[in-house]
Amino acid sequence: MQKNILTKAYNPETFRKEGHQLVDLLADYLQDCMSQKEMPVLPWIDPEMQHADWKNFLDKKSTPLEFYQKFLDQSNHLHHPNYIGHQVVPPLPIAALTDLMATFSNNGMAIYEMGPAATAIERNVIEWLLKFFGWGKNANGLLTSGGSLGNLTGLLAARQAVKEYDVWESGVDGNLAVMVSAESHYSIDRSVRIMGLGDKGIIKLPVDDQHRIKVDLLPGILNEAKNEGKIVMALVGNACSTSTGIYDHNDEMADFCTQNKIWFHIDGAHGGAAIISEKYKYLTKGIEKADSVVIDFHKMMLTPALTTAVIFKNGKTSYEAFTQKASYLLNKKGEINWFDGAGRTIECTKKAMGLKIYLMIKTYGTELFSSYVDQTYDLAREFGNIVQESPDFELAVAPDSNIVCFRLIPEGITEHETNELNSKIRERIKIDGIFYIVQTVINEKVYFRITIMNPFTTLEILKKLLFMIRSISVDLSNKFL
Ligand SMILES: *Cc1c(COP(=O)(O)O)cnc(C)c1O
Repeated sequence: MQKNILTKAYNPETFRKEGHQLVDLLADYLQDCMSQKEMPVLPWIDPEMQHADWKNFLDKKSTPLEFYQKFLDQSNHLHHPNYIGHQVVPPLPIAALTDLMATFSNNGMAIYEMGPAATAIERNVIEWLLKFFGWGKNANGLLTSGGSLGNLTGLLAARQAVKEYDVWESGVDGNLAVMVSAESHYSIDRSVRIMGLGDKGIIKLPVDDQHRIKVDLLPGILNEAKNEGKIVMALVGNACSTSTGIYDHNDEMADFCTQNKIWFHIDGAHGGAAIISEKYKYLTKGIEKADSVVIDFHKMMLTPALTTAVIFKNGKTSYEAFTQKASYLLNKKGEINWFDGAGRTIECTKKAMGLKIYLMIKTYGTELFSSYVDQTYDLAREFGNIVQESPDFELAVAPDSNIVCFRLIPEGITEHETNELNSKIRERIKIDGIFYIVQTVINEKVYFRITIMNPFTTLEILKKLLFMIRSISVDLSNKFL
């Protein structure tokens, strides 16, 4: 007899049974995806209908398994090789399983005692990552929930490193500013505003036709900012940018920062992982000269979201960003212990996100990550070449990474009509569900944007996409004639 609802809800045997069912369901699903079973990648349902449907389901009798199945049926299928949309990876099964362990044990890590093993594991993961940077003893870092929070964390350290002010004690003075690429992810702009620097705290840097920051303009822009009474606290480089996947000239930008004593932050949320690849690490040149770097494991490192590393060449700076007096974080000597994680993150309770990475490294080694980068970057280049050679298609820019932006350019229609056409085609692809791709606007032109996140996407599949784009275009123009 179940005494009460809590005893029932914690029943270990129920957990065992439902857990096995769930793993079986996911394994079958993975099999279906990998064998390219005919199924919509994104089963498109209008948001209002989706909302009403789940509202309805809430009151319906069902088993957990029925809920899991329904959820999968109505979700975006990242493990399907025709998923080539946003930059979120189809997680490695072992990483997802390990996440269940992290979730179930719920060791919070604000202080060592709340997550002893998790804390030590995270430090090992960070040390593994740091090896690729060659920064020496003073370097360290942390894991946090997402690149957006990671960028804010890095920039907070940059702000506290400004000699003229102690922002933590005295508040923000109005003249701090950050130099950012016109192509930066919006989280950079948002971080600057969250830090209280406002619109005037953002100095947008123009990019060249390859979408890289124009390095030769930096001295002039810095001088102008100084003349306006601004103190430039950081320069942010992309490795790579979100929209086109292009790496900035980070090496030259690093030297500029050194000369001018400016903090150099690299947003490597997407492409920082290329440093692990022998073949593609040349793209990240200069990243080893940065003061802080953000890398998302849930993008190019096969890990479920959210898992982000923020690493610092001089680890002490990350503590200084949060010099709040919290006595329970201090040891007897009044020092902050490395093992009490809350001393250096915005998060207090934090998920034990290092576990899944640790086990991936332990099980498959570095090669897992380098193969993934090599394979997806290689394929993007091959696809880029095909697009380049097709007279009816146009590339936005030759791909650096696994992000490719391209568009259809039929003869005899205006720029405006070309935009409309590409937009309509992408909408049709989304609703048909055979592929999942996204779109972006660059210099007022609409492009399809694909990111090769799935290691089982092939050139054949990408050729099918081009074929489908052409046939939808024919279909649409027949309709409108
Ligand atoms: C995805 C991305 C971010 C944001 O990271 P989240 O983990 O989604 O918060 C920041 N910068 C770049 C370059 C990105 O690609």
